[in-house]
Amino acid sequence: MKTIGKTIRANLGVLARRSARELFGVLFPPVCAGCDKHVAEPGSLCGPCWSKVRFIEKPYCPVLGTPFSHDLGSEILSAEAIADRPPFVRARAVAIYDGVIRDMVHRLKYNDRTDLSRWMAGWMARAGHELITDCDVIVPVPLHARRFWLRRFNQSAELARYLASTSKKPFEPDALKRIKKTKQQVGLGLSERLTNVRGAFKVPVAHEIKIRGRNVLLIDDVYTTGATVKAAARALLRGGAKSVDILTFGRVMGDELSV
Ligand SMILES: [Zn+2]
Repeated sequence: MKTIGKTIRANLGVLARRSARELFGVLFPPVCAGCDKHVAEPGSLCGPCWSKVRFIEKPYCPVLGTPFSHDLGSEILSAEAIADRPPFVRARAVAIYDGVIRDMVHRLKYNDRTDLSRWMAGWMARAGHELITDCDVIVPVPLHARRFWLRRFNQSAELARYLASTSKKPFEPDALKRIKKTKQQVGLGLSERLTNVRGAFKVPVAHEIKIRGRNVLLIDDVYTTGATVKAAARALLRGGAKSVDILTFGRVMGDELSV
């Protein structure tokens, strides 16, 4: 009798959860993360939006993750990586930053579509599978305290939080601090961007223990010129990190310095 009661209660629980989900689906039907058209699954893209995404897949530069037009072998670096060896070991991104990918980042950052972060992090988990496996700790690129206070939301931290929880890796949002209030990088050229972020980050002494001797995976929403993540990686290494890898959602290619 007890068992039957338990089974009925469990089934009622399942039914209640299912109807809550269905009701939620009716009230808030899932929409395409790129264009707001209705889609079957939350966090997915409609067919036309999906077909426009330029996913970054091998072959690419093993250091910078920039796509190669043909396979040169896993040891061949891009000219850019040879000319200016970055402080990080590897950088990977989901897709080239344009069209739908740019819209998704903007919606997450400025339109309060915080729900997008878990879906975007899911895509990042696939693109950065090796980096996630190899890391000891996940750290987001921080906002300056004042900007965080104004916006109340750090998109990189949200992406990093989901990546850490799904991969069961430690999430350390305080391990890196932005100590200089930098100008927005939008509209700045490469050399201005480098100057803007120089000395912008620091590992607070009290938090060094979280990264000392560890392989750090640094998360940002977009890799533009690399100026920001390079400055952040240098600060992490100065703070005692053993190595730093970079994982972003979007990757700006060529001269598209529009973030
Ligand atoms: Zn769409």
